Amino acid sequence: MFRAWTTCGSHRPPAPPPRDRTLTRVEPIAVYVHTPFCPSKCGYCDFNSYAMTGEIVERTTAATIEEIRRSPHRGRPAKTVFFGGGTPTFLSADQITRLLAAVLEAHPITPETEVTSEANPGTVDIPKFEAMRQAGFNRISLGAQSFDPGDLIRLGRVHAADHVALAVGAARQAGFANVNLDLMFALPGQKPAGWKRNLETALALRPDHLSLYGLTIEANTRFKRLHNRGMLNLPDDDVQVEMYEEAIRATAAAGMTQYEISNFASPGRECLHNLCYWHAEDYLGYGPGAVGCVSGPEGRVRYTNFKHPLGYSERVESRADLWCDRDDLTPENENFERIMLGIRLNQGLEIGGLEIDPSGLATARTRGWIEGADRIALTPAGRHFCSEVALLLAP
Ligand code: SF4
Repeated sequence: MFRAWTTCGSHRPPAPPPRDRTLTRVEPIAVYVHTPFCPSKCGYCDFNSYAMTGEIVERTTAATIEEIRRSPHRGRPAKTVFFGGGTPTFLSADQITRLLAAVLEAHPITPETEVTSEANPGTVDIPKFEAMRQAGFNRISLGAQSFDPGDLIRLGRVHAADHVALAVGAARQAGFANVNLDLMFALPGQKPAGWKRNLETALALRPDHLSLYGLTIEANTRFKRLHNRGMLNLPDDDVQVEMYEEAIRATAAAGMTQYEISNFASPGRECLHNLCYWHAEDYLGYGPGAVGCVSGPEGRVRYTNFKHPLGYSERVESRADLWCDRDDLTPENENFERIMLGIRLNQGLEIGGLEIDPSGLATARTRGWIEGADRIALTPAGRHFCSEVALLLAP
């Protein structure tokens, strides 16, 4: 129901709005770096992540640095920088700081630029966070997922519940003023009371931002196989709705504002990188399986790099083409994606300049899912039907 497409860096491809193509070489652009390694593979995970260790980790790091150095977009300022994965903090302090140095050399930033790294609470400590802070990261996004030991074991997470508080403390001690926690709900066997406890525990850690996603069962995962055999005891839709509404209540009571279907922030702490996606702006992607979307004289192209770390590294080393997929976006693609992404935001979707189906608009309004005229936003009821609303609005 609430797809976890930003959890652990699964950056699904949005599309940018029309703009003056001649400006695109100098405009700041969002920069994403994919680090594909994890200590182990979580049962629900369909992201481009690999439980690999040894020489391949350094080889892939070096290849990603080389990709950044050779980028045709080198020199273009970074609007935001985001390291996702995989688990970026699975890399050593030396590897992750070398990667960031390559990004900053290629894409200048200002002191205000948001520079985020995702982090697994089981792979960090104060020295690593200090090295990252010194290198230029200023925002940490911790994949907490749950504070219930049983949930963490069932999910296949490598960290224990108390690692999250330790990681938040380590990040604060290292000087990170901007910390996000990712939590998942609708987990196997999870009850509303358990979810409420998770929210209370998370909020007690005083994060600046919370990303709260419902578990979805993805193809080619251990959870999918268990689900097919009827072995996952998932909460039904009504319970999921109850959990989601509890999240909205609890975060509001804690002074956080919901600004997107699944994201909540203290004042001024919205994730600027993800806002670039939701506003359908251009972004660069570096690393194995990274997705980018760039405008050029021939239009807009979304690309995906080769996914496996070995194949990707070999291609960088032999100077072969890195893209395994290229999608030349049509105006219809862009229109749909701008609707699909923009409607997720609480501020709503400005419909001027978009192709909108008038009968779908009327239907969504009649059902009580949207409100507003020039700028339409989901109602509280409509937040449960975000995808349906996007499909209704698109011609
Ligand atoms: S930590 Fe788990 S969910 Fe996140 S990318 Fe790695 S395997 Fe996937």
